[in-house]
Amino acid sequence: MVTLQRLKTLYLAVLMFLVITLLIAAALFNDLYLNSINVTELIENILAKREPLSTAESHELSVSLSTVEQTRTRGYIFFIAVLLLLSGGALALLFIYRRNVVEPVSRITEATKKITEGKFEGIPVSENKTEIGMLAENVNLMGHALQGKIKELEESVLKEQRVTRRLNILNEIIGSLIFKLELNDVLTNIMSNSKVLVKSEYSIVALLDRLTHKTTHLISSFPDNDIDIGSLAGNTMKEILSSKMPLRSSSEDRIKALLERDSAYIGDLHLRNMLAVPIVIEGAVCGAVILCNRAGDSEFTTEDEDTALMFTIQSGIAIDRSLFHERVMHLAKTDGLTGLNNHRTFYEILGMELRRSRRYNRNLSLLMIDIDDFKKFNDTYGHQAGDAILKRLADVLLKNLRAIDSAARYGGEEFAVILPETPLDAAAAIAERIRDEASRSLCISRDEGLCITVSLGVSVFPEDSIDKDGLIKAADDALYMTKRVGKNKVITYQDYKIASKK
Ligand code: GH3
Ligand code: MG
Ligand code: MG
Repeated sequence: MVTLQRLKTLYLAVLMFLVITLLIAAALFNDLYLNSINVTELIENILAKREPLSTAESHELSVSLSTVEQTRTRGYIFFIAVLLLLSGGALALLFIYRRNVVEPVSRITEATKKITEGKFEGIPVSENKTEIGMLAENVNLMGHALQGKIKELEESVLKEQRVTRRLNILNEIIGSLIFKLELNDVLTNIMSNSKVLVKSEYSIVALLDRLTHKTTHLISSFPDNDIDIGSLAGNTMKEILSSKMPLRSSSEDRIKALLERDSAYIGDLHLRNMLAVPIVIEGAVCGAVILCNRAGDSEFTTEDEDTALMFTIQSGIAIDRSLFHERVMHLAKTDGLTGLNNHRTFYEILGMELRRSRRYNRNLSLLMIDIDDFKKFNDTYGHQAGDAILKRLADVLLKNLRAIDSAARYGGEEFAVILPETPLDAAAAIAERIRDEASRSLCISRDEGLCITVSLGVSVFPEDSIDKDGLIKAADDALYMTKRVGKNKVITYQDYKIASKK
């Protein structure tokens, strides 16, 4: 602590030593001077008298000369001693100065230089602290603090870079989402891009019905979309619905519980960790993106969670838009009263199915259905009762059709059914089944026998016609023949032609 103060004291001591040395030197020279004056006077007296020296004078002269000689010798010894002492003192001072000032300062200079290069190494500080030692200690503290700050800065720069990279990917992904309208395309896009964005091995996208909370859509990048994924998604969704928060876990037990299994395996795939983020539409949770197994054996971080949340916000908007698109498309394609395809959709499907039948050389049958005396029914029971009959007839049609068949409300109280890959006899049998069921189920009052009946005309590709309009006209011709011959009947175009020839 006080080395520099000690050095000051040393300087003062050396100064005093010099002053004392000068005083002694002055006294010695004064002595030398007085004796030399004495000798001079004696010599002058001797010369004035020009007589031989008396014994007393001779003695005085020899005493003075010996005193001068002694004083000179003492003076030499004194100066040589002082010179040696001064040289030793100067060397000692130089050594002390170097040890206590020059070396520590150069160490500090070296250390500060290294700090500027970002390679700080601590300066050794002795326990006996000097001012320079304290300076070194402060430089050490400053170096450590700077090192910490540099590390923090480097980390935050890296984080910024990661965030920027993710934002760029997010931008690209959202750009690609904007151009997707079909719900399945949107969900597939969300599934594959969420994996890329958060670097996970697998991704599941689940959508819920907002009212019943039942899973309506579930797609995943797992090799097998088996039951395990359903229970994983279902249980994860349950947790997210109650917490409304993302779910992040690396716990084997938690994953086992979500999978409802004794192991955290789906087939051969081990689920190490997962991150599930809700998809929110208009403030309500309507699904989730579930990411499994963070790439590179690492765990999902809060940063991943934030990125996934940003992604699902945009995904929610894209899903909402495609759900709206689906609703609009459904409204544009279907009949509002019965829910069956409308006239335009019927026409499109008929064209498509005819092309397919032509390509594979298959039959296609067409049923045209018309409610008998419907005007009278409406007039008697009212329009609303008539609407109910139209709906119930639609149900009868759907009940009697296969998945590949399609029914449409052709217009008013007329319906059409397309039966791909169906020859005439099979089509006539289906038509008969519909006629029969309609006559038994479309009743106002069974007791009074107030049942609605329908008439059906049947045509078949390629025998009756090879194009849409021809096929429709053929079925229509047969249908209107039923009206002439008593209604509640099935007539094929073949029968119609035979009857027309007669
Ligand atoms: P036919 O046995 O010869 O087919 O006689 P019809 O009375 O069924 O046939 P018509 O063409 O004379 O009358 C069709 C009726 O269908 C007239 C109309 O009131 C009714 N209708 C058409 N569209 C609707 C509808 O959307 N709702 C209801 N309730 N009735 C409808
Ligand atoms: Mg009609
Ligand atoms: Mg009718």
